[in-house]
Amino acid sequence: MKEQSRWNKVSLVILKLGGSSITKKADNKFEIDYDTLNRSAQEIKSVLEKDTELQLIVVCGVGPFGHTNVTKYDLNHGIETEEQEKGVGITNADCDFVGSETVKALEKVGLKVKLISGYEVCEQKSKKVLSFDIEPYKKALDEKIIPITTGIMVPDEDFKWSPMSGDTVIAQTAKQLSPTKVVMGTDVDGIFTADPKHNPNAKLIEKITNENLGEVLEQCGESASVDVTGGMKGKLEKLAATLNGVPAEIFSLFVEKNLENTLLGKEIKSTKIKL
Ligand code: ADP
Repeated sequence: MKEQSRWNKVSLVILKLGGSSITKKADNKFEIDYDTLNRSAQEIKSVLEKDTELQLIVVCGVGPFGHTNVTKYDLNHGIETEEQEKGVGITNADCDFVGSETVKALEKVGLKVKLISGYEVCEQKSKKVLSFDIEPYKKALDEKIIPITTGIMVPDEDFKWSPMSGDTVIAQTAKQLSPTKVVMGTDVDGIFTADPKHNPNAKLIEKITNENLGEVLEQCGESASVDVTGGMKGKLEKLAATLNGVPAEIFSLFVEKNLENTLLGKEIKSTKIKL
């Protein structure tokens, strides 16, 4: 198809900087983890110097800057009151803050980047994507500029405004631009048989494909409650829908050089997914 041939000269990778790694999500603080963000920027710069064919789209999770505000101002079920309207403004200023701090971090190492706020490109209807304008991403990539988008509140035909997650940006860009892979940096080494922060027996699942999916889910059942298996199944189903067949790798951004190495195609501790 035309769209695919447009990008086959370069390798396009979608990079998610998870909210759990670039914000103080675990402490529920409205703070950026500048150590992780700045180190990630350095690693991206280093990779782009080595691999001049590589192009990136950066998607940022926003951690508490999104979730805490959405809960505080009750923004998940439609906007009706003035207080909620105010909440949308505050939330979007906070999410744009995460985006602009990411822009600054990447510019500081000499990269050309552009913040594309989700509300400029995405419209939803009852929290589901109605339209997602890919043109600003194509334009940026054509100009060798790295587009950056965060999770944020976007216009909603039924709800006035509704939350759009970073994963929606991954789903839309993956569907519309056929990237070679999606790499997702988070605060743990990948997907485990149970939440590794709460279960010391949780084991890292190194590879998930359609062939071993059943086995993986069974493994989760052995080491944890039925509830977790359900949760895991849900997590994987959501991820499969997000990735739309594009291979993905989930890894810890807290481990130095992980980002650089995975972008260079080197083996790191992670979960690789091809569903
Ligand atoms: P991010 O904000 O980086 O996108 P999330 O907070 O959505 O990441 O997901 C990462 C978190 O998911 C980890 O901090 C971990 O505690 C939790 N988690 C729950 N279940 C699992 C599991 N089975 N495997 C890995 N992480 C899990």
